[in-house]
Amino acid sequence: ASRNLIHRAGLFSVPKEKSLFIDESGTKLSYGKFLTKTGQYAATLHEDYKIQKGDRVLSRIEKSIDAVALYLACLQIGAIYVPLNPDYKQEETKHFIQDAEPKLFVTSQLELDKVHSESVSHIVVDKQLKKMIEQKKAATDVESMRDEETASICYTSGTTGKPKGAMLTHGSLSSNGETLAKIWGFTENDRLLHMLPFYHVHGMFISLSTTLFSHSSLIWLPRFSEEICLRHLAQSTVLMGIPTYYSRLLSSPQFQKSSIPPQFRLFISGSAPLSLAIWEEFEKRTGHRILERYGMTEAQVICSNLYDVNGRIPGSVGKPIPGTELRLNVNDGIEIRSPALFSGYWRNPVKTKEDMTDDGYFITGDVGRIDDNGFLHIMGRSKDLVISGGLNIYPKEIEDVVDKLDGVHESALIGLPHRDLGEALVAVVALRNGVKLDEKAIREKLKAQLAGYKIPKRVLFISKLPRNSMGKG
Ligand code: ATP
Ligand code: MG
Repeated sequence: ASRNLIHRAGLFSVPKEKSLFIDESGTKLSYGKFLTKTGQYAATLHEDYKIQKGDRVLSRIEKSIDAVALYLACLQIGAIYVPLNPDYKQEETKHFIQDAEPKLFVTSQLELDKVHSESVSHIVVDKQLKKMIEQKKAATDVESMRDEETASICYTSGTTGKPKGAMLTHGSLSSNGETLAKIWGFTENDRLLHMLPFYHVHGMFISLSTTLFSHSSLIWLPRFSEEICLRHLAQSTVLMGIPTYYSRLLSSPQFQKSSIPPQFRLFISGSAPLSLAIWEEFEKRTGHRILERYGMTEAQVICSNLYDVNGRIPGSVGKPIPGTELRLNVNDGIEIRSPALFSGYWRNPVKTKEDMTDDGYFITGDVGRIDDNGFLHIMGRSKDLVISGGLNIYPKEIEDVVDKLDGVHESALIGLPHRDLGEALVAVVALRNGVKLDEKAIREKLKAQLAGYKIPKRVLFISKLPRNSMGKG
């Protein structure tokens, strides 16, 4: 039997009139109409651009329902969907085109992307493609796929270097979608508030797959803002967000317990560490315990706190989800084995091999600690470990303490080269508005809570910590 994600999610068995999308203005699009649109895209890709199984379709377009249809159309015909951040400029885009060698490049900015026409067989503006599909009879054939066949090449965020193309298969995407829908208690009645970008694993797969595998609905919004979020919270049942959403909601005086409707059941956070301070303030303000989970492009969701509210431990990312095996190596490095794992880095077998152990575990590049209850705590990235005077310091541990100091908004701890110590721990701190605290005061306060070697040698002040669109610092 075919293992195409479209078959595995049972999309053709959802009642046709059931809503899949609810947009900003409240307009609904049903599963039936959406699948027709997807079929029209599939027909256009196939007939007009001769896209075959295994061909790459690169897309650098704004978030829209059509972008989702284009993605699923690729899956329907066995092509490989390659999404890019629409903010990428010419030079950045060039790198991905050379890497992915797409047969078709769909862009929302032809002016900017015209220069790439030599390097791809076809280039088309999303608006034009949208017109082309309208005339088409929807294709209903779904290509038969095997678990290990690639559905998408998704690039990592590039936090630690050049983004790497992770090959995600029909099997890996389906496996994570099925499991998440189950463990997070999704039913067909859910309405997921979706404000995430549609080019990253969080907004593309984790959230969308959970919806598709539970046959539920999406409140589909172009981006996050406190105002947009507050306006649509009333209709939703679940929110998937990055930590920044939660800190920004908390800084809005309009966000109160009464902003959350009775049917609302679950706030989920991932993609970057959620600070203890935010978790606690959120519970105090709303009575809701945020469910934090941990994932990455190469593996989707790896660990999750439990749906049972007593199994949501602040500061922890929870336990490995069903089917996932997790262990720590001698340096506390997190290694995993999972059916949701990627099949390798696109055209980079050397890097793929480097990141796998001999017995088939993937080396995530993150370090962690497992507590007595079996819950994982992320201590940071292996690369971020600060070794000062021969002692290992995990920046995350110190950040948690600094963030909780009165007057501190947020902090980042880094290691800078030091003649005697090798590296010296330095705190970069953003204070809350109107607060006056100096270096000496902060160091004094920390001395009461941390061993001497964990006290930052210097404290620098900054108005705001830089973050990318996924809230990564
Ligand atoms: P690159 O691999 O290109 O350097 P990246 O690792 O930031 O970029 P992603 O795949 O988007 O790219 O992010 C995965 C990483 O995000 C994880 O390896 C982990 O470091 C971090 N992360 C995700 N969820 C959490 C979480 N709940 N707590 C702490 N860190 C998290
Ligand atoms: Mg990474």
